[in-house]
Amino acid sequence: MWANRRARVTVLLTSTAALGMLVGCSSTSETTTSSSSESVTHPSSTTSADGTPASRTQHRHRSVERSRTAAAQYDYRGALQHLEGLEGADVDRLTTRIAAQKKDAVEWADNAQIPHLFFHSLIVDADRAFVSPDSAQGYADYMVTVEEFRAVLASVHDKGYVLVNPDDFAREDAQGEMTYVPITLPPGKKPLVISEDDVSYYEYMKGDGFATNMVIGDDGAVTNTYQDASGTSVEGAYDMPAVVDEFVRKHPDFSYRGSKGILALTGYNGVLGYRTSDIEYGNDPDIDVDEQKRRATAVADTLKDDGWVFASHTWGHTNVTDASMTRLTADTTKWKDEVAPIIGDTDLMIFPFGADISGVAPYNGPKYQLLKDDGFDFYFGIDSSTPAWGQLTGGYVRQARINVDGLSMAAAKTNDQHVLHDFFDVDEVIDPARAEHGF
Ligand SMILES: [Zn+2]
Repeated sequence: MWANRRARVTVLLTSTAALGMLVGCSSTSETTTSSSSESVTHPSSTTSADGTPASRTQHRHRSVERSRTAAAQYDYRGALQHLEGLEGADVDRLTTRIAAQKKDAVEWADNAQIPHLFFHSLIVDADRAFVSPDSAQGYADYMVTVEEFRAVLASVHDKGYVLVNPDDFAREDAQGEMTYVPITLPPGKKPLVISEDDVSYYEYMKGDGFATNMVIGDDGAVTNTYQDASGTSVEGAYDMPAVVDEFVRKHPDFSYRGSKGILALTGYNGVLGYRTSDIEYGNDPDIDVDEQKRRATAVADTLKDDGWVFASHTWGHTNVTDASMTRLTADTTKWKDEVAPIIGDTDLMIFPFGADISGVAPYNGPKYQLLKDDGFDFYFGIDSSTPAWGQLTGGYVRQARINVDGLSMAAAKTNDQHVLHDFFDVDEVIDPARAEHGF
């Protein structure tokens, strides 16, 4: 929980730095350099040491930018705090505006009614994915292309949805009971959770037109490595986190206080495109598992700083409904041994296949006890029959997710009442590459 809170603070700072770059203002560590170079070209503005008028001006500018970003992402209290102690007509106007926004914001009425859309790794090159001899049908059914994903994001943003993470809407209280936390948004704005499952870049996907891993780009943000059809390796936004990060940099109002979404990880092929599993790769002379772990950990840390949170998707993509207690116990041990050290502890469980441990009846019994003892407070199944479904007990929060993929889009095309119509127009979103390849 608290790790997530810390991550959020960093997010705001990162976003502010990004905004600062957009408006051409220097930020953070470059301050000293730019002020001393300015003093060379403009002797009248002098001052290079700390505490001088120039550095105070820059500090003021940074505080104002941070305030603007915080306000754009609905953290009005934080936004006002950034302005404390500053003077000037612009600060007065900003303070008045943020105070008015704070007054107008309303609490989301029911945290059991927060929709959750989920995706898998995005298809970068449909001309390869949709002709894969072994997997074309699976890709068409369970995945969307980068273009489709971008269109979905644009649509939900237009409709007023704002990305929230689980700990924005529920947390353990002082007594250790799970409880809903108020989400405060301007009238008309609506919370939305998004998640991506199986962010491993599994071995079977190699050469089929997907990114191969996540890396940290030159700007310090997470991006992807992708090998195109000619074999050339390029870096860019080729999967969900990098695409969402790019979108939020353009539209800060799409993120609630820096939150982005959930990445659900298995362990058997490693995580985030790194072959980190000792069980699978410990004896492979071509793979330096420790180095893979180091690289994956650096990427995971960056993702957390940028507002992403991680969920367990079980180590072995295990069907938790069907698994014996022995198998489930062994799986959770593998996950704790091989995935938790890279991404940190998590209290989020995203069931593979949506295979939950109960229907709508509240959880009880040994499987719940095992998972709860392992620290899981949030559980996510699948239900695409309704825009949102949630369940709160003292012990946990459960939320239903809606699959956005080829199957659900095909279903929505023949059903005017389909839940996807709440979020986007399927005909506008669907990639023509599907029809071109007979899907
Ligand atoms: Zn899965």
